[in-house]
Amino acid sequence: MSVTEAARPQAKSHLRQARMLIDGDWVNSRSAATLTVENPAKRQPIATIPRGDAADVDAAVAAAARAFPAWSRVAPRDRGRLLLRIADKMEEAAEELARLIALETGNALRTQARGEARLSADIFRYFGGLAGELKGETIPLGEQVLSYTRREPLGVVGAIIPWNAPVLLGALKIAPSLCAGNTLVLKAAEDAPLGVLMMAEACREFLPRGVLNVLTGLGEEAGAALAQHPTVRKLSFTGSTEVGKLIMRAAADRIVPVSLELGGKSPSIVYPDADEDWVVDGVIAGMRFTRQSQSCTAGSRLFLHADIFDSFLGKLQAKTQALKLGDPLDEATDIGSIINEKQFTKVCGYVADGLKRKDARLVFGGLPPKEGPLSQGYFALPTVFADASNDWRLAREEIFGPVLVAIPWRDEDEAIRMANDSHYGLAAYVWTHDIGSGLRAAHAIESGWVQVNQGGGQSPGHSYGGYKQSGIGREFSLEGMLDSFTQRKNVTVNLNTPRRA
Ligand code: ADP
Repeated sequence: MSVTEAARPQAKSHLRQARMLIDGDWVNSRSAATLTVENPAKRQPIATIPRGDAADVDAAVAAAARAFPAWSRVAPRDRGRLLLRIADKMEEAAEELARLIALETGNALRTQARGEARLSADIFRYFGGLAGELKGETIPLGEQVLSYTRREPLGVVGAIIPWNAPVLLGALKIAPSLCAGNTLVLKAAEDAPLGVLMMAEACREFLPRGVLNVLTGLGEEAGAALAQHPTVRKLSFTGSTEVGKLIMRAAADRIVPVSLELGGKSPSIVYPDADEDWVVDGVIAGMRFTRQSQSCTAGSRLFLHADIFDSFLGKLQAKTQALKLGDPLDEATDIGSIINEKQFTKVCGYVADGLKRKDARLVFGGLPPKEGPLSQGYFALPTVFADASNDWRLAREEIFGPVLVAIPWRDEDEAIRMANDSHYGLAAYVWTHDIGSGLRAAHAIESGWVQVNQGGGQSPGHSYGGYKQSGIGREFSLEGMLDSFTQRKNVTVNLNTPRRA
């Protein structure tokens, strides 16, 4: 695949307009309005995209509805085969895709964007291989009855994704929904649509018209119109808890099933036997410092046993400050930039609040420099505050930036109580050599995903999703595909009808 005219960003002097994919064609918005996409590391425009609105949503949903009957009747393994070909195409273009992701998101190429491009191709490969698993059951009602279930697609799916891992999150909507026989209208995030459009180009080569439609535009315009569209039979949303509630309200009006993958404020609990370098590395990985902590799974509340509190924070400081902030496309860079001015201002606001609080101690980091190369982009410094309390704003709200709060504990029950004292429940991390303690904590923590002694990212096959206000439904897995993108039909057949003469 090469980036088409539709997705390739150009230099400012001849900034090209990227276009949306509706019914197999690359199109501008009906209104011809556009938005500008910026490189956040340089604060420079890199492309314009269509500002899609309700009229474009109508066109995309109509195309998806027209494509549905034929697509849903393609044999699942043939649909799977097409996904496997898309995976190959994406793999061939992985480096180009990774560079585009780094350019538009500010995520460092070496530590983040390459991994995202490869994992996105893997997602197509994983779901492509699962097409044969869209199986039903037979129910043993006796010899005179055949009762069985079918896994049927829902119809047109409306999906909305954020900017933090745009291509991966897009792949997680496209591959399982299409594998299961649905057609899709996907709304990309306004800040990071270019990689998603490039992935759409790889898909377009293999898919019939209208099976996949990708829109660009603002959340309140294109996103809201998609969520409210009467023809959409399923909503799948990844983003903030605040917008997730709006999506769920829109779904409630039409009794449309909804999957939500929302925010988090994930705890990382370090036991007294784990004051070691590999744990510090794991806590840094879990905090997603190399993604500017713009991750729903960031382990941003660090519960350190009081006996190791200062010693652990000392090691954390040395290792975190050795990470290099800078141009996301530079191979030497570990940490890139925050996505946009709004998020940057928000993150700085939290840091400023922490600095004002008398009983919180700044361990390292602080407000970003106002001069020098880093001031050219939205670069936030990894920052750690030590505090005795789990109930201040910085320990409760999702910051979506590199600000970690360290809180001491002495009693295991108290650590778990504090870990669970949050309306979020997405991820958690536990660090100890004592497997009994580790598993006790893993079972007691109210989160959809607990990692013991590691701080990695999701893998295909893992049922990923949140407890509490972190979401509803699961992604990344066979079960996630079956639960989120199919509906079960039961067919009951009487085998005891009288014979015809
Ligand atoms: P973030 O704060 O990470 O940008 P959001 O939840 O605001 O997360 O955005 C995630 C996605 O939701 C984006 O594609 C955005 O355009 C979309 N969005 C924002 N507001 C709405 C809305 N009112 N209705 C539908 N989609 C929306």
